Amino acid sequence: MSTRNSPPVLAFIGLGGNLGDPVATLRSAVHRLMTVPRSRFLGASRFYRTPAWGERDQADFVNAVVAIETALPPKPLLDELLGIEREFGRQRGSDTQMRWGPRTLDLDILLYGPLSLATPGLTLPHPHLHERAFALVPLLELVDDIDIPGQGSARAALARVDRSGIQALSDR
Ligand code: AMP
Repeated sequence: MSTRNSPPVLAFIGLGGNLGDPVATLRSAVHRLMTVPRSRFLGASRFYRTPAWGERDQADFVNAVVAIETALPPKPLLDELLGIEREFGRQRGSDTQMRWGPRTLDLDILLYGPLSLATPGLTLPHPHLHERAFALVPLLELVDDIDIPGQGSARAALARVDRSGIQALSDR
């Protein structure tokens, strides 16, 4: 299938990090996301300080969401994001290999238009989006509400999860 003429799709990228200076990292990452090929940067949420998810015995995370309009198909978009993660990883030294452990920069495709996809390397929407306040809160700063395919309204999902401890940072 040709990937050249895909119509642009509204996609949301989740950003997170908790190593080094995560605010500075996310700031640079937002700028880097402005240069994703075949994509138009639409906006970024504020940054949020959020308690670590999974392995709780580690530094708080800083999270944000970026909206882009992209003509990249989902897998090439993921490959771009993994490349950016690697660039930032190299700048900051190696992350540990813990599954939910500390990381310099984590980029996730939260939503890719209305697409649902389950492949070994890519699941859309992001399988944990509907249960993670640290992704839903910044997402809902960018849109009033949005459908999470297979899960329903993002705002309704946020009403079901614990959002305590999620604190907007004034600077970004
Ligand atoms: P993690 O470091 O836990 O975020 O996992 C990264 C891996 O998850 C990537 O190498 C992807 O292959 C895979 N993955 C599956 N679905 C997604 C998604 N929607 N966004 C980002 N990575 C994904």
